[in-house]
This record gives sequence, structure tokens and C-alpha cells, in this order.
Amino acid sequence: MIQESLLLQGMRNKLVENLKLKGITNPQVLDAFRTVPRHLFMDLSLERVAYEDRAIEILCNQTISQPSTVAFQTQLLDVKNREKILEIGTGSGYQTAILYRLTSRIYTIERQKPLYDAALRIFERLNIHPNCFFGDGYKGLPGFAPFDKILVTCGAPFVPQDLVDQLKTGGVMVIPVGDEKQTMYKITKISDKEIISEQFGNFKFVPMLKDKQR
Ligand code: SAH
Repeated sequence: MIQESLLLQGMRNKLVENLKLKGITNPQVLDAFRTVPRHLFMDLSLERVAYEDRAIEILCNQTISQPSTVAFQTQLLDVKNREKILEIGTGSGYQTAILYRLTSRIYTIERQKPLYDAALRIFERLNIHPNCFFGDGYKGLPGFAPFDKILVTCGAPFVPQDLVDQLKTGGVMVIPVGDEKQTMYKITKISDKEIISEQFGNFKFVPMLKDKQR
């Protein structure tokens, strides 16, 4: 158990009230935001702004998405206890830790080694055990498929077919698609060959990069 000030818990409670105003209603999702210490996923100097609804820079020019975006994606994914989830873009690990409150069967992939290493350290500190992989999210994790749900936390230029293939029939993928800005898609795999896709507004994510891109 990590010791922290009442002030930080107060700031988290306020964040949860703010998320409710922004349409987050799922009690388990709200509870995850009330519990996970977002300030630990960033530089110490940023603690005072950790619970504002804004994206925050982390290593390698990447960002932790703003809490309302993390909450929106998590709610849309509609995770049930014991479901097996694949996350693309571990980043700071904050979204991973939120998902872990909903099911412990989490697999997450990050392509930047410094971020991957930092996320491992924080998971250890929080005593949580998502399955972490350093690699290319476009390929997913065929050896661990199929997944009930897939969450992509970087802006994808298109929906990667390998990820669709790794969804169970009936499974759902939440993925922001687009170059400069992205449209949030919820993709439901209704059979081996068919998907239904629904759109949920515009967002701005860092890009999902290919193997050698910087
Ligand atoms: N879920 C993260 C969001 C981080 S930003 C959080 O809560 O902090 C998106 C992350 O996706 C970045 O860390 C970036 O390095 C990673 N990413 C981009 N392209 C990727 C790819 N092809 N495979 C795996 N990770 C990727």
C-alpha cells in the first residue's frame, strides 16, 4: 500500500466528479479513477496538475491521455470481470492500471524501451501484474489470442487486420483512427469475416507508429 496525502485522494475524488459531468457513468470505471494514483505515472514535479483533465508529457515525447479520454475509452470498452484484454501503447502505464482494476487478465504492448521499462517499475511499485510486452502493436500478440477486447491508445492510420483477427467472435476493439486527428471507433466482430463499426467523435492521440518510425 502506498502512503499518500489526503490531498491527493481529494484531488482524485474531484476528478471523478468531473468525469461524471462529462458523461462517465459506469461505477466500476469511476471507482478505478478514484483509486489509481495518476500522479505516480509522471514526473514528480507534475504532481499538482496530475488530476486536471489534461494530457501530460511523459518520456520519449509521448503523453498520458487526458483522464476524460482514458475514461471514455474504458467505458466504451465495457470490460467485464475475467475478460482478457489487449492494450496497444502501454505508455506511462496509467490506462493499463485503470484496466487492471476491471480485470487482471491484461496484456499490453509498448514499442519504446524507456517507457516499457518505466511502466514495469511502476507496476511493481503498485504491486499489479499486467502481462507486458516490448514490441510492435500492429502485430498484436498472436500467441496469446484470442482476446475479448482490444484497446488501442495511439492514433492508428487504419484498423490493423492482425488485431481484428486476434479478437474473439463477439469481441470489441476500441481504436482511434486517423492521421492528424482521430475518430473513435468501436468495432464489434460479429463473425469470422464480419465486423460492425460505430463512431464516437473526434480525439487527438499521438500516432501509432510502424517498426522503424521515430
Ligand atoms: N495508454 C498510455 C497512452 C500513451 S500514448 C498511457 O496511459 O499513458 C500512446 C503510446 O503508444 C506511446 O507510448 C507510444 O510509444 C505507443 N505506441 C505507438 N505506436 C505503437 C506501436 N506500433 N506499438 C506499440 N506501442 C505503440
